[in-house]
Amino acid sequence: MELDTSGANMPAMPLEPTNIQQIGDELAIAWNDGTELFLKLEVLRRACPCAVCGGEPDVLGDVSRPHVTYTDKSFQLAGFDFVGGYALQPR
Ligand SMILES: [Zn+2]
Repeated sequence: MELDTSGANMPAMPLEPTNIQQIGDELAIAWNDGTELFLKLEVLRRACPCAVCGGEPDVLGDVSRPHVTYTDKSFQLAGFDFVGGYALQPR
């Protein structure tokens, strides 16, 4: 398969963030198509997919969710890192 780099057959510009910053208690992401996304830091923190927060499946595939306690500090953004070519990891 040949890669068309002329852009003539490209459907659209890939969606990429142009600005990422914390605004209040939200992570605000501005995209190159002019749209903006606001994510509550608390929602992001509670959705953490790591094994400590979300649990790990046992040999039978059952997941027992660990008990995670949160404080106000749990929902503060210390920063974020880019992971690979497309992911953002808030800390
Ligand atoms: Zn976690």
